[in-house]
Amino acid sequence: MPQRNALQGHPVSPGLAVGPVHVIGDRPDTVPLWTISAEEVEAETQRLQGAIKFVSDEIGMQQKLLRAQVGEQDAAIFGMQRVILQDPRALEQIQTQIREQRINAESAVQGLIQRLSDTLSRLEGGGARGAAADFSEPWKRVLDALLQREREAILSGDDKVVLAAADLTPRVATYLDRSRLLAIVTESGGRFSHGAVLARSLGIPCVIGLPNLLARLQQDMHIAVDGNEGRVQLAPGPEELEEFHRRQKRFDSRRAALQAEAPLPGRTADGLELNVLANIEGVRDLETFDLGSCEGVGLFRTEFLYMERTQFPSEEEQYRVYRRVLERMRGRPVTMRLLDIGGDKQLPYFKTPREANPALGWRGIRISLEWRDLLRVQLRALLRASPAGDLRILIPMVGSIHEIREIHAVFDQLRHELQGQGYEVSASVPVGAMIEVPSALILIEHVLAEVDFVSVGTNDLVQYLLAVDRDNARVAHLYDPYHPAVLTALARIADASRAAGKRCAVCGDLAGDPIMSLVLLGLGFDSVSVAPHFQLEIKYAVRQFERPAIEELARSALASRSSGELRKLLSDARSHLYDRPAAGSKPGP
Ligand code: PEP
Ligand code: MG
Repeated sequence: MPQRNALQGHPVSPGLAVGPVHVIGDRPDTVPLWTISAEEVEAETQRLQGAIKFVSDEIGMQQKLLRAQVGEQDAAIFGMQRVILQDPRALEQIQTQIREQRINAESAVQGLIQRLSDTLSRLEGGGARGAAADFSEPWKRVLDALLQREREAILSGDDKVVLAAADLTPRVATYLDRSRLLAIVTESGGRFSHGAVLARSLGIPCVIGLPNLLARLQQDMHIAVDGNEGRVQLAPGPEELEEFHRRQKRFDSRRAALQAEAPLPGRTADGLELNVLANIEGVRDLETFDLGSCEGVGLFRTEFLYMERTQFPSEEEQYRVYRRVLERMRGRPVTMRLLDIGGDKQLPYFKTPREANPALGWRGIRISLEWRDLLRVQLRALLRASPAGDLRILIPMVGSIHEIREIHAVFDQLRHELQGQGYEVSASVPVGAMIEVPSALILIEHVLAEVDFVSVGTNDLVQYLLAVDRDNARVAHLYDPYHPAVLTALARIADASRAAGKRCAVCGDLAGDPIMSLVLLGLGFDSVSVAPHFQLEIKYAVRQFERPAIEELARSALASRSSGELRKLLSDARSHLYDRPAAGSKPGP
């Protein structure tokens, strides 16, 4: 086995897949890098020349148009741009980079643009800078043409691919239709970032934390991805493939065994029950799992509806989506969270000022309360959809009682407004608060007095409790959901909820760990909401224990003084759990 081709990263979303890789940029303006083989140099050079010709023809058209409209003098700038593209030295530099460094044309053109910009920054005087900027302009257009063509080529294809990118952003996770995505691999990214959340929700096997991955990939190279173990094999040989397929088969038969038990609830033999709900990001997610055995949606991250558009969705559009989700869930509870943008969830059409600390900045409910029109449109759409099912509304990023009261006031006002306009609105739409900001945790009793239920967003709660950015790969090792402070916080929320007689759930990704969901049940949480593919595993786990054992597990977990101690405890419980056969199969998470 060529060991150097086996890479170990961090598993983010389970499952195994093998197929050809396709490298992409993680933001619209990032340039993907991949290596090419000696045989591909010729084709890559032709791709470059095709893009230069395309841009040159386009500039020629613009020149002609301008000449007719305003005259030769103004059109001359385009003539100049075409001359720049014909500069043999620039072309030679790009081609040499493609040939000698064996990199794709986009990266080589980007190299030239960078050199031009370096020259520019050394030049004195505005006039000289302007001239240097003009030199890079047509090459930027060539770069855009290359990127655009590459994107169009992959989007118009129908083959299944493994996507590779530098970072795991929401754009990467939604770049291709789910049916064409085998897996995702990236150099960096946070395990609890929104890209990771999406990959799990969509059930895409995913591994991150693979340094220098892109420089080792060639477009279309076959790679095998093990999202359970975080392993990636570049260009696997026959023996490696055979071993990989064995693991894949084991995983598939485990899934099939769980599927056979899908209708069974997450209830112990002595009657302790955990409601296991699904996290979704859109109507499309309802196609990726079995709705029949799903107990409800515990978190609909509505911001993804906004992120996948070119402008804000109207009240009517939102109403249709919300109604559809409620109808598809046929009376089972659906918790829709108010818009939670900001941080790594940016809207391409809503440019917010650059912030030094986006996680501590303008996000979630802070935006909705400042931009009331956004809030009003969304709440009206939700209330209009409410008669279609069992709707609950969840407020993200709550940090103070005042914010909850503000939402209630708008909510009540809109209810009257809609009724006055002749719309039907459900008599009861419970409103809950996400507990993910430490101030809401500290004031939990007061928060509970203001809402119908709470749901803990551990992804954010962990980052704020531990002061570790969930999206920053540099501190990813410090982002520790198993830190005893997190468990103590969770116990406090469960105790306070029970005392207040209010329902409490965990919808952060920590609940996706089946053993951890047992601990949550033992602490007193009545439900968890997780990426859809984890639902069956969690219900299975609950059925293997009885109330005293689950309560004892929670007590011991709470007594752990370090995350090492807690992990050891959970790992022992995990081996105990997976020593038992499930529906005749030898299980393994
Ligand atoms: C969380 O913070 O745990 C959560 C569920 O919300 P999000 O991941 O969308 O921030
Ligand atoms: Mg959150």
